[in-house]
Amino acid sequence: MSGGSSRSLPDSLAAAGGILTVDLDALAANYALMGELAKDAQIAAVVKADGYGLGLEAVVQTLVKAGCTRFFVADVHEGRRARRFAPQADIYVLDGLLPGTAPLFVDARLRPCLSSLEEVRDWGDATTGTAPAALHLDTGISRRGLTAADVQTLAETPDLLNKASLCLVMSHLACADEPAHPMNEKQRGLFEAWRALLPPLPASLANTAGSFLGEAFTLDMVRAGIGLYGCSPFADRDAPFQPVVTLEGRILQVRALAAGETVGYGATYQAPEQRQVATIAVGYGDGYFRRLGSGPAQGGAPGGVPGGMPGGMPGGMVVVSGVRCPIIGRVSMDMMTVDVTKVTPLPRPGGLAQLIGADIPLEEVAQAAGTLGYEVLTNLGKRYQRLYTSGGRIKVEPDEQSDPPSP
Ligand SMILES: *Cc1c(COP(=O)(O)O)cnc(C)c1O
Repeated sequence: MSGGSSRSLPDSLAAAGGILTVDLDALAANYALMGELAKDAQIAAVVKADGYGLGLEAVVQTLVKAGCTRFFVADVHEGRRARRFAPQADIYVLDGLLPGTAPLFVDARLRPCLSSLEEVRDWGDATTGTAPAALHLDTGISRRGLTAADVQTLAETPDLLNKASLCLVMSHLACADEPAHPMNEKQRGLFEAWRALLPPLPASLANTAGSFLGEAFTLDMVRAGIGLYGCSPFADRDAPFQPVVTLEGRILQVRALAAGETVGYGATYQAPEQRQVATIAVGYGDGYFRRLGSGPAQGGAPGGVPGGMPGGMPGGMVVVSGVRCPIIGRVSMDMMTVDVTKVTPLPRPGGLAQLIGADIPLEEVAQAAGTLGYEVLTNLGKRYQRLYTSGGRIKVEPDEQSDPPSP
């Protein structure tokens, strides 16, 4: 789909400014691949933050069909949404149990990741052994989870343990994306020592990156997020996952710039010579990163090679007809401008530029924006027209042909 514009899209999308395509077959393939990586461990899919920005419902539906029976969400609200498409699955809530909320969990058959002695006690009191929950140990990330002293107390209080009906013990690695980091071994050691004090329970320590650390880390269950969505969890190396997301922006106009003319707010870019510039209908209001704009480096003279936003990062790139085109000037709310001088023939209004995809990987966009694929995905805007593809079929959301909801 090089260049994007050669792809045949539903006619209803001709006016869409930004088009986000989610390849559900690639998502299912990545789930299968995680299963191979994790050997004997079960794969639980982490679908928090609206399925890492891709749409919780479509993601859960696809993974259920692919055989996934375990999910992690951030909160009860996401848990309820997931429940509608995964009626039989185990659904764990990472935020744990807030005071007084146990009935909400029971109602949707959600499992809190209990993260303090109070939560264990509250869950036990509210459910008296009738509803399973996970126990979350804090082995070093210091966000959620029981401490060493808590684990000791719990081990010495069988009544607490029995009433809470624990079905999983888990912890979360702080540095799994740096395989050689000593924190990995340290957290693993604590996790093993602490869980040895408790009754035997299935155990989960690894996220996507942790699944590359071997069987001592994958244990009984891997909680896989980013890899399912086609992104490497590592800053400095690839991972074998298939890309899931393609983002395209509509070309609104192409114009010639004379030497000396400027582009965008702040006039941060000045053409050093004649240039051809395309305006694309995607901006920071769509979650595209303003930081990917470019202009002269701070203090530099205007013009010349884009030297990055004031403050230093080089600008980002988009791909038009297979040609890499630098973003010039600032990214504004609904639009950005790119230099298409090298594209022949010049693109025309209505064409598409690829912003993320086979020609310009998610990881590269993240790096140029000074962030991670995680943030690029969860920032994907609500304004994009979304296409979900599977087995050659395309589903459009929102579907503008459907009737408005009845009052
Ligand atoms: C988000 C999260 C995961 C998934 O991490 P990835 O790096 O996306 O695989 C696993 N466990 C916990 C506790 C998380 O918060």
